[in-house]
Amino acid sequence: MKDRVFIGIGSNVGDSEGNCIISIKELRKDGRLAFRGVSSLYRTSPVSSIPQDDFVNCAVFVSWAGSPLSLLEFLMGIENRMGRVRDGKKDSPRVIDLDILLFGNLVLQEHSLTIPHAELHKRRFAMVPCLEIDPQIIHPGFRRPLATFLSKIADQQSVELIRKINMDEIELS
Ligand code: ADP
Ligand code: MG
Repeated sequence: MKDRVFIGIGSNVGDSEGNCIISIKELRKDGRLAFRGVSSLYRTSPVSSIPQDDFVNCAVFVSWAGSPLSLLEFLMGIENRMGRVRDGKKDSPRVIDLDILLFGNLVLQEHSLTIPHAELHKRRFAMVPCLEIDPQIIHPGFRRPLATFLSKIADQQSVELIRKINMDEIELS
């Protein structure tokens, strides 16, 4: 059981707030996942050369009773069921994006999986929600507080608080 797993969630197609909420409920349905916390919802500017709508982003803090690859498979299954279309282009618009940002202190570089997420320390929209949940996070690759990377990011990456997520929104009915 990995105790400190952070999953980044993003959407910029359709009802983006609703998509983020649905994906959290989907995560909670699986017995291997123990839910520990969730950030607020944020409106963020796309980090892409392709013109597209703003994103809604958040992060969840969980434990996962399985391997990192089994978690990636599980996340991709949810993305597919929610209608994610993969056009092969990087940074294109998406109904839902579920990324493994941190998996305990694991540092891993495999063909299909890099942990911590390779862009975590470069993306305000990924760091801000994680740091809301735990301001003390240490990046296990760089062995530095994640918060120290925030100040190095260009100002164009805007991240605005939308609202908190209520627990009853993400409760399984
Ligand atoms: P991104 O999230 O970087 O915009 P995609 O969601 O399209 O891109 O993911 C592309 C691929 O990234 C996935 O097929 C997956 O194998 C790979 N990948 C590598 N590391 C991770 C990670 N930490 N979390 C999620 N996917 C990852
Ligand atoms: Mg992804």
